[in-house]
Amino acid sequence: MAFAKKIEPGTAVRLAEIDPAYDAGLSKDDGEKLTKDLAKRLDELDDLHYEAGMNSVLIVLQGRDTSGKDGTIRFLLSSLNAQGCRVAPFKVPTPIELAHDFLWRVHAVTPPKGGMTIFNRSHYEDVLVVRVHSLVPEAVWRPRYEHIDAFERLLADSGTIILKFMLHISKEEQERRLLDRENEVQKAWKLNVGDWKERAYWDDYTAAYEEALSRCSTARAPWYVVPADKKWFRNLAIAETLVNTLEPYRKAWLERLEGIGEAAKAELEEFRRSQA
Ligand code: ADP
Repeated sequence: MAFAKKIEPGTAVRLAEIDPAYDAGLSKDDGEKLTKDLAKRLDELDDLHYEAGMNSVLIVLQGRDTSGKDGTIRFLLSSLNAQGCRVAPFKVPTPIELAHDFLWRVHAVTPPKGGMTIFNRSHYEDVLVVRVHSLVPEAVWRPRYEHIDAFERLLADSGTIILKFMLHISKEEQERRLLDRENEVQKAWKLNVGDWKERAYWDDYTAAYEEALSRCSTARAPWYVVPADKKWFRNLAIAETLVNTLEPYRKAWLERLEGIGEAAKAELEEFRRSQA
């Protein structure tokens, strides 16, 4: 069963039609058991991916404030091969970044072969926050959907497996999480008045997300909307999507590793013969 909602290319997304509290009728306990099994498989697949060095994996995480991007990263890092995994956060662009095209800073941190990079926010901010706050004119941000599509095509054609997750939370859940930050000492460091200010633009962000999801979900770089009101279900949906996406590569990665092993063995035998 698919727990995350894959956006089929060309569909018009309506976020209101996707329940942020969806849990497939699972209990938290059952969900966590499934996630544990999936995390094991993910670890194994990631090892093969790292050692075979044939592909790169790019995970894009987007979502409103408090939607759980950091928690998702913590979960993924606990299940992945630490050697090949990196996190790339995207903040307000620096003057140098702004002096380049919007994809310049993004291309610089895409994953190499064998690597996996998690984008904490991404190039999509350039059609989300930039659009909502009119940071550049529409004539500048609108062509970006096509630039993004071409960029992701380039990455995919170069062997990058791309998965894009939109962590979908409800307005009520966001309020609960923001209030928790005020009320719990251990969470207070996350307090940011900016989050409350952004909340006022809820509907504008909805429209911006809907267009990005509708315009930029492709077979080679699909978008998944992840019901994220329940953190355990969010992790389950992401683990399942990753395992389902990487599993079809297992055979090719194993074959490559066998090939590498055979070649190393032959070289060693040759060396021993020469020493005899
Ligand atoms: P977090 O991702 O944990 O919220 P910050 O609080 O540092 O981290 O937020 C990063 C901020 O950078 C966000 O408000 C985001 O909208 C902003 N940002 C990211 N990319 C861009 C961009 N291209 N243009 C303008 N703002 C951006």
